[in-house]
Amino acid sequence: MSLNIPLPAGLGDYAWLETLVQREEIDQTIPLYIEADDGIEVVAVSLLCEDDLRMIYRAPNGWQLLTEYELSEDPIIHVDDLLDAVVAFVGTDARVVQKLAQELGEKLEEHWKMGFVPYSQSGKGDKFEELRQDCNCSGIDDPSIERVPGMSEIEESAEFRCHNCMSLYGIEYQGRRIDLDEVFSAEWLFTNSTPDDIVEIGAEDSFLVYSDGRPIDKTERVIGAMTSYGGDTSSSFARYIPENHQGLLYIRDDDAAGYVTWEELDGIQVLRQLYVRDHYRRRGIAEELIQTWCQEYCEDGVYYIDEPNDKSRSLFSKLGHIDGDGEYEAIELYPIRGVGNSLDGSQTLPQ
Ligand SMILES: [Zn+2]
Repeated sequence: MSLNIPLPAGLGDYAWLETLVQREEIDQTIPLYIEADDGIEVVAVSLLCEDDLRMIYRAPNGWQLLTEYELSEDPIIHVDDLLDAVVAFVGTDARVVQKLAQELGEKLEEHWKMGFVPYSQSGKGDKFEELRQDCNCSGIDDPSIERVPGMSEIEESAEFRCHNCMSLYGIEYQGRRIDLDEVFSAEWLFTNSTPDDIVEIGAEDSFLVYSDGRPIDKTERVIGAMTSYGGDTSSSFARYIPENHQGLLYIRDDDAAGYVTWEELDGIQVLRQLYVRDHYRRRGIAEELIQTWCQEYCEDGVYYIDEPNDKSRSLFSKLGHIDGDGEYEAIELYPIRGVGNSLDGSQTLPQ
C-alpha cells in the first residue's frame, strides 16, 4: 500500500483513527465498523487524502487496498463524531465514489458476512422483496394489517401495513387510524391545520404547500407518509427528517400528487427527495415541482442533487440543469458516512 499507515493487525479499538486524522496528508477518515460486546471493531476505512480517496478494508489475511481514486473536486466534509463522519463528493466524483462505495460494501459482505447500508444496498430494488407474500388484503381494517413504526424520522409516526404483503394502508394521527386516501386528500390536510405557506403556480387545479419542518403538523405527516409509500419499493429512498428538511407538496385536484424535500449545506440547497405518485406520473408534475422549487427556494441558480439515479438524471438533463445551458445548474452529490453494525446474538467476529 502506498500509504505508510500503522494499521491494527487484529481486532482492536479505534483510537488509531484519531492518529490517522492528525496526519498531515489525511484530511478525514470514514470508518465502517462492527459494534461487539467488548468494543468497536473497524473493518474498513475510507481515507480522504489531499487529492485522492483511498478505501481500505480488513480481510482475513490483513488490510487490503480496494482503490485509490484521484478526486477532481474538493468534497464537503462534515464531522460531529469520528465514527459518524460524512464526506459528500460532488460532480463527476459523485458517480465514481457511488460505485466504489458499492464495491467496498460487496467486499465487506464477502469477508464479514454483513451488509453495511447504504454501501451494500443502494440501487437495489424492492426493499421488502424477501418479506412479501401473496396476499388478498383489501383495506386498513383487514386482520392482516399491523401497526408498525413509520419510515420517516418523525417520532411516534406509526403506520399501518399488511404483515403478509407489506402494503401500506394508512397512518396513525392523534391516536386514530387514517386511511392513506384520506391522508393524501387536501381536505384532511387543511382540517384544523394551517400549512406554513401556499405557493400558487398559476393553475386552477394545482398549487404547492410549503413545510419548514417545524412544528410537525399535517403537512409533515403527509410528506412522511409519502416517503413511506415511495420508499416501499426502493431501499435507496432517502429518509425524511423534518427537523433538517424543508418540503414542498404538490396538490392537484385536491389530492397530494408528489413532493420534494431539501436542506441547506454550506449555503447551497441540496435536493434530497423527489417523488410523484404512480397515477400522477407523465403529467409534467416532477418538472413543475423542480422548476417552482428552483424559482422560489434556490436563488443562487446552483443546487446539489443528492444521489440521483438514472431516471432523475434524465429529468434534470431534460430541464437543462445537468450538462445543459438552463437557468439553473444541478450538481450531483454523493455522501459517504461512517456506518456501524451490531452483531446479532448468533454472530461472532472472526478472529
Ligand atoms: Zn396484504
